Amino acid sequence: MGLHCGLAGFGGGEPELGRVRGGRSVNSARQTCQLTPSNCQLAPRNCQLGLNKHGAKLTANGTFDAATAEAVTEFQREQGLTANGKVTVETWRELVAGVGAVGGYSLPIGKSVLPRSEYDDPHHTYPAIDLPVATGTSVYAINGGTAAKIANTGGCGYGVRITARDGGVYTYCHFKQAAVASGEVKAGQLVGYSGNTGRSSGPHLHLQITRNGKLVCPQRLLLAIYDGKQVPSIGSLPTSGCSY
Ligand SMILES: [Zn+2]
Repeated sequence: MGLHCGLAGFGGGEPELGRVRGGRSVNSARQTCQLTPSNCQLAPRNCQLGLNKHGAKLTANGTFDAATAEAVTEFQREQGLTANGKVTVETWRELVAGVGAVGGYSLPIGKSVLPRSEYDDPHHTYPAIDLPVATGTSVYAINGGTAAKIANTGGCGYGVRITARDGGVYTYCHFKQAAVASGEVKAGQLVGYSGNTGRSSGPHLHLQITRNGKLVCPQRLLLAIYDGKQVPSIGSLPTSGCSY
């Protein structure tokens, strides 16, 4: 499974659109990857393609060479992992899909990047949350659904809006760059890189969720995902009490 796993998970080097078109098979491959993590020694070319998706500019030559090890180290540094150039289980998991996918949910930011305490902060003025992360940090879909890119014409800056299967509409803002075309995305799929575009006073990820057109507080949901606990339904999230 090792070789095939990475290949499908990264769309086999196809352009971004191929990834979305890949739909179900991408997801099942990713599940397999997470259950039986492969590594870059087993599937170096897929590893290189994965690193390139995160901004490395490697030649996918299938050799775990010095440049590849360097890109792994760089990736680990960005993700807050031990930067040793070795593709540990944890690194592989981050590389493939982000961390914390439980019951169809994933944290929006790699688990090792932000402490738990950042996920219960109130938001200014209205229900939402701001996650302080450096420009270029990978952002993952919390729940799967239909993504639509947001153009950099308003306060959100570059972003992605995902009409999710759980009934929530998730809006991710201030990206440096989106990583998906419009279309179907899975929980844990890379959707963009955080930044400081739009009405933003410093690099961070702004995240808000609406249900039936009303903003709800994302904090309880995010903490449950972080803790690996049963995720509350979107309908049970409060519509106030998480702003100041
Ligand atoms: Zn905000």
